[in-house]
Amino acid sequence: MRLWALLLAAGQGSRLAAATGGVAKQFLTLDNAPLYWRSVETFAACARLRGLVLVFPPETVAEAEAELTRLMAARQPGVPVRTASGGPRRQDSVRLGLAALPPECDAVLIHDTARPFATPALINRVIDALNDSDGSDGGAAGVVPGVPVADTIKVVREGQVEHTPERQHLVAVQTPQGFRLDVLRAAHSRAESEGLDVTDDASLLEACGVPVRVVEGEAANRKLTTPEDLAMLAPSPAPRLPCTGYGYDVHRYADDAATPKARPLRLGGEPIPGGPCTLAHSDGDVLLHAVMDAILGCLGEGDIGKLFPDTDPALDNVNSAVLLSEVLRLARERGLTLTHLDATLVAQKPRISPHREAIRRNLARLTGLPLAGVNVKATTEEGLGFTGAGLGIKAVAVVSALRPA
Ligand code: MG
Repeated sequence: MRLWALLLAAGQGSRLAAATGGVAKQFLTLDNAPLYWRSVETFAACARLRGLVLVFPPETVAEAEAELTRLMAARQPGVPVRTASGGPRRQDSVRLGLAALPPECDAVLIHDTARPFATPALINRVIDALNDSDGSDGGAAGVVPGVPVADTIKVVREGQVEHTPERQHLVAVQTPQGFRLDVLRAAHSRAESEGLDVTDDASLLEACGVPVRVVEGEAANRKLTTPEDLAMLAPSPAPRLPCTGYGYDVHRYADDAATPKARPLRLGGEPIPGGPCTLAHSDGDVLLHAVMDAILGCLGEGDIGKLFPDTDPALDNVNSAVLLSEVLRLARERGLTLTHLDATLVAQKPRISPHREAIRRNLARLTGLPLAGVNVKATTEEGLGFTGAGLGIKAVAVVSALRPA
């Protein structure tokens, strides 16, 4: 069998055109290429196909050919690709496309490019069934994929139900449809001479009394028809990479609350009543500072000292949660999504454990992370060093996130 595929990209898609500002549906983009290109790639990957004919609307064929040349320069399909100018009806486009097939071709698959999700497995089922028809049983010269119909279908005339066909005998027919070329050409000439008007090629064979075999279709092989279907073309999410940021901060305790720049202790935005005061230009929230540095680490943006200089009078006694919201705004702008925060407070005094859960909840609220994505630990340094001597407090934070690749 010398098999080619006819890919129809000549329809006007009037139902969709209204929703797309007049762009015919096969020229909508999917993965940065026109919709029809997806079919070119799927069919070109099918080893038993000798070549492809693309049928474009007659009024835009030159433009479409120029774009096709550009696409093929970047991504060679590996089989010959011809083009043809379509006609007013689908069956005219098929007839004109058939005329562009090479003389040696003896079988053809016809596919609507408005069905971009047909798979190689489906194409192979259609081809296998066509091959069977070459056997001694003189089987079908036409093959169509069909899927069971979920809805009850009624035959209606002038607003009245005429009858209800039995559902087990109904299938919704898809493309690609496969045909022996001599049979399909004969059916098309008969349609021409008898003025038959059909919506698919299998119907032409039926009209000529030629049996058409049904193979299993694919539910996902939908035809883009309505504006709602455009959602199926939403670009696949951009690739993202996991990343980790680390933050570390220390604040000295003030001797007493009267010391200049002494701030009542806040940890993770949570006031710690009765705790020592920290010395700071801002509100001295050592934990939020470590968290911000960890987020900035994911962004490659240095540290909070760079963003919020402690010489800026506007930041005197500023609420660190406000600074955090600014850092989170930057993160959003840069496409960073936080996934987890793990923090450790290191202090001899005050005792953190009674506040640990409140701090954790507050961090989840401020960062927008789920509670399960936030952990807070507290430890002492067993009397060693400046925290051990009760001179100050330190905080360490590790933030995990996803960033654009
Ligand atoms: Mg600090």
